[in-house]
This record gives sequence, C-alpha cells and structure tokens, in this order.
Amino acid sequence: MPRWRQGQRRLVIAAANATHTFRIAASPACSVCRFSPSCIPPDAVRAKPSKIKGRTTVPLRKLAAGFLDFQRDTFAPKRQFFDQLAQKQEPKVAMIACSDSRVDPAILTNSESGDIFMVRNVANLVPPCARDEEKHGISAALEFAVIALEVQHIIVFGHANCGGIKALLTNDPTTAEEHEFIHNWLDIAGEARRRTLIAARNQPLEVQLHKLEREAIKTSLSNLLTFPWIEQRVRDGRLRLHGWHFDLHSGSIDVYVASEDRFLPLTIDLIAELQDG
Ligand SMILES: [Zn+2]
Repeated sequence: MPRWRQGQRRLVIAAANATHTFRIAASPACSVCRFSPSCIPPDAVRAKPSKIKGRTTVPLRKLAAGFLDFQRDTFAPKRQFFDQLAQKQEPKVAMIACSDSRVDPAILTNSESGDIFMVRNVANLVPPCARDEEKHGISAALEFAVIALEVQHIIVFGHANCGGIKALLTNDPTTAEEHEFIHNWLDIAGEARRRTLIAARNQPLEVQLHKLEREAIKTSLSNLLTFPWIEQRVRDGRLRLHGWHFDLHSGSIDVYVASEDRFLPLTIDLIAELQDG
C-alpha cells in the first residue's frame, strides 16, 4: 500500500520487492530513476531508499537525466532521421580511439549518430593482423567497418596525457603486477617505446610522453596495413588512413602528415590536402 513519508513530501510505494519514491508535486515518475518502476535497475531495486539517494547514484542519475534530455531535445525533433538510421548505418569514417573518459571523438568533432564507426581501447592501439584462435575484438571491428560498411577513412585518434601510454613509457611495475591484461596489450607499442627512448633519451618525461603518444599512433597506422583487406583498399584509393592527436590542454588536434613524417595542426585546408593527395 502507498504511504506518505513524514516530513519529506514524498510518496513511497513498495511493490515487487522494490521501494520507489515519487515526488508529490512532480510528474508521476520515480525520483530514483525518473522512469516507471519497471525500469529500475536490480541494484537500485534492492537498495534502501537512503542508499538510493546517496552519492553513488549521482553519476547514474546524471546519465539518466542526460538521456532524457537527448530524447526530448534531439530524438523527438529528428524522428525521421533516427527512423532512417534504424534501417541502416552508413558511416564513412571509422575511428580507433582511447577509452579515456576525457577524450570522446564524437563529442570533440560534433558528430551525430551514424557518423563514426567507433572502436575504443586502452591507448587507441591497433594490433597487427594475427590469424589464430584468439578472440580479436579490434580486428573484428575493423573487418566489419572496412569490408561490410566500406568506410572511406580510418582515423587513429590519440591524445595527450594518455594514462596507457604513460604506463607503457615508464614501464610502471604497478601496471604489470596489478593488472592481468593491460601490460601485454600495451606491448603492441613496445617498438614505438624503444624508438622514443632512443630519440628522446635525455628529454624530460613530458617530452618523451608527447613523442610516444605520436609514435604509438604511427605504429597503429602501420599495423592497419598488415590487414590485407585494408592494405589493398589503401593501395587502390578506396580507403585512407589518418593519425590525429588531441591535446586536452590546448584543445587542439595535430594531424599526421606521412609524407613529412610529422604532425601539423588540423585545418580544413590540411585535411583537404591529405584527402586529395
Ligand atoms: Zn589514452
């Protein structure tokens, strides 16, 4: 039975082993999840109201509120656009980006749903093509993007202050001891690390990191070419590979120019030049 919680101006309903707290004057949505009671996640269902309102739910409430904003401000006004997207995706660009929460390429490039086929992992690395019985998630994603979706561009999207690259450079023993998979994963850029330590051995750590972030992008670009269906398409002009490096401090992106073996600030003219060249 519904009951009023004294002093809180909230209606508390116990149903289906869950307790939902409804604001009296607000819309009839649960104040915990803002959806109908059936949408409450199992953890929230089991938690007591005092825990539900605690700090741990703040991030999820923010996500839920953000989604509702998207639903109202973006989805509803562009219903036809999303109806078309529901039928099929036709992205022209695939990206390999870092999982870092600060560096979301879709946000940074003002992209829309359907624009980018996104692959994210620690340190935005591409492993070399390996035909064995292991589960190759990155390779499978690339295969789908290139062969099924026929993307025209693949961008390896690196960034400054990359924790993965720093762990690789400093060979952080904590990383190796406390993590089962990261150390081996980062070894994809082991050769880039060796090149960096030789070229910048007397430089401060910040300089070495900056260089390794870019060398790792170049390694991933090289590894992309070890996949025959990528190499073939690059050779006949159906596919182009790009390396971008984003700096969170300056808010700028530098683009790898292979013909000069250096990174230059992103401009529309430079992108057009690389696309035509
Ligand atoms: Zn990173």
